[in-house]
Amino acid sequence: MELFQIIEEVVDDDLLFILKYGLIISNFITIFILLYFKSKKQHNQKEEKKCVLIVTAHPDDEAMFFLPTISYLNDKNYEVHLLCLSNGNANNIGKIREAELQKCCKYLKINKLTIINDEHLQDSMSISWPIEKIQKIVEDYILQNNIKGVITFDKNGISDHVNHIACYKAISTMKRIEDLKVFVLETTNILRKYSSILDFFVSSILNDNLMVNLNILKAWKSMQIHNSQFVWYRKMFVVFSRYAYINTLIKI
Ligand SMILES: [Zn+2]
Repeated sequence: MELFQIIEEVVDDDLLFILKYGLIISNFITIFILLYFKSKKQHNQKEEKKCVLIVTAHPDDEAMFFLPTISYLNDKNYEVHLLCLSNGNANNIGKIREAELQKCCKYLKINKLTIINDEHLQDSMSISWPIEKIQKIVEDYILQNNIKGVITFDKNGISDHVNHIACYKAISTMKRIEDLKVFVLETTNILRKYSSILDFFVSSILNDNLMVNLNILKAWKSMQIHNSQFVWYRKMFVVFSRYAYINTLIKI
């Protein structure tokens, strides 16, 4: 106020009016400019969303094993792609399982789903998948979709399933574009595997790339959507498996 009193003594009323309201208007203009650039920055960040690709072998792998990773990627505003290398047609219910996977991806907010149904990549515990074929599919997908990171099973495939292990073998040895980051989902020993959320303490000490899902309903619902697979031991899996609540990734 003192400043204005001094100014009042030396300037006439018109100039004082311009000074007072000029200051107020310039403040509004400054705030407007700041808000404009902030919103523009947020908009640009949205445009620059990084795409991450999760490669699985069967419909339900994403819900059984990768749920904490998917939740983390959603929270961090990544664009999540899922490439499922088979439609799980081991019991001739491939079409049903495709529909279940599509529904689950909607529920888990996965941005883009691709299901491969190739005669050489059929759901089987005993048939080895051709590594070069997987590599070609994944490499093409990465180039066509501007993928910056790939996540898949590790060398033990969580459950030792040969199709899971084939994903690792192919992706760990494929051609990589510059700056592509590749992570694998860590397989733990059986004691840790079925220690549910209790494995958090060991996981947090042993691995920095730790992802946590504390939402048991989300874990249950995402598996329940795979209705054709939701038998009693998979219900038990949701409750006791660490993979419903904890993922640890290893960079390769
Ligand atoms: Zn599987």
